[in-house]
Amino acid sequence: MINVLFAAKPDRWDEYEADLRTAFAALDLPVDLRTEFPAQDVDYIIYAPNSPVQDFRPYTRCKAVLNLWAGVENVVGNDTLTQPLARMVDPGMTQGMIEFVVGHVMRHHLGMDLHIHGQDGVWRDHVPPLAQDRRVSVLGLGELGMACANALSGLGFPVTGWSRRAKSAPNITCRHGEDGLRETLEQADILILLLPKTASTENLLNEERLSWMPKGAVIVNPGRGQLIDDTALLASLDAGHIAHATLDVFRIEPLPVDHRYWSHPQVTVTPHIASETRARTASEVIAENIRRGEVGEDFLHLVDRTAGY
Ligand code: NDP
Repeated sequence: MINVLFAAKPDRWDEYEADLRTAFAALDLPVDLRTEFPAQDVDYIIYAPNSPVQDFRPYTRCKAVLNLWAGVENVVGNDTLTQPLARMVDPGMTQGMIEFVVGHVMRHHLGMDLHIHGQDGVWRDHVPPLAQDRRVSVLGLGELGMACANALSGLGFPVTGWSRRAKSAPNITCRHGEDGLRETLEQADILILLLPKTASTENLLNEERLSWMPKGAVIVNPGRGQLIDDTALLASLDAGHIAHATLDVFRIEPLPVDHRYWSHPQVTVTPHIASETRARTASEVIAENIRRGEVGEDFLHLVDRTAGY
């Protein structure tokens, strides 16, 4: 038997149990899946933030910790974790992120608010530009950033992407490094943030870098709240430099009711719903990683503990 501990908040158990059992059966994995085990008996830990497991040392035979979320900032710095850590790359989550990003880009690109909120008898015949005339930049060209960049490029937007290491991709202008960041921001009529939260990305979008963006630019942040210096963003919005920010993630979640973002007319707050891990497709990814662990193959989507993602 392979002992798999589901170490997430109890409400997730109801959401995932059936799909996990189906995925294990589909790969003929003889899994005993439970929410409690003696620590020394556990072969794999399925993990999510606010997990009851915070000290990994007693899990002496555990072969891997399999994170249910794409972001690993809540566990990657845990000194007791010596086992391999895999993050979630879930086709369902990727599809959800594409839909969220494309939807919010199209809202701003087409100027939909003007018509949705402006039903006042005024015939505003402003015609939006074509996608080919609106430059979109994506910070983070990983699983989610690259998928969104490709979807936006497919719609005709000229897309520039920025990553830590040099990359190339058909139809995407790929940049990296500090110089690459400046060029990427200077061309961002619409900016998408899909970077992980690490020591190097915290407050990446600060006062100076916001000033590199074109006047009237729009920001869509489904990455992490810590990527943005909130004070600098509010100042830039107030000064009319950044025209709008659609923010899905925040330093404190839920976003406190008295936070200025809630009442700011140029901010759209969404409650960290850009894209959830989808239980069915994510369970297949978890099962595949356990299969790999059992036959000695490399795990998928391993986290680089030094880079922090
Ligand atoms: P990946 O690890 O696949 O990609 C991360 C990307 O960020 C890579 O391109 C990486 O560069 C780049 N990057 C990391 N650090 C730096 C840096 N210092 N400078 C420049 N580029 C950097 O992650 P995912 O695409 O799967 O997820 C991205 C993030 O999206 C998650 O970490 C999470 O925070 C967020 N997320 C939000 C959700 C929501 O609902 N709001 C849902 C899911 C995820 P390189 O390619 O060189 O490694």
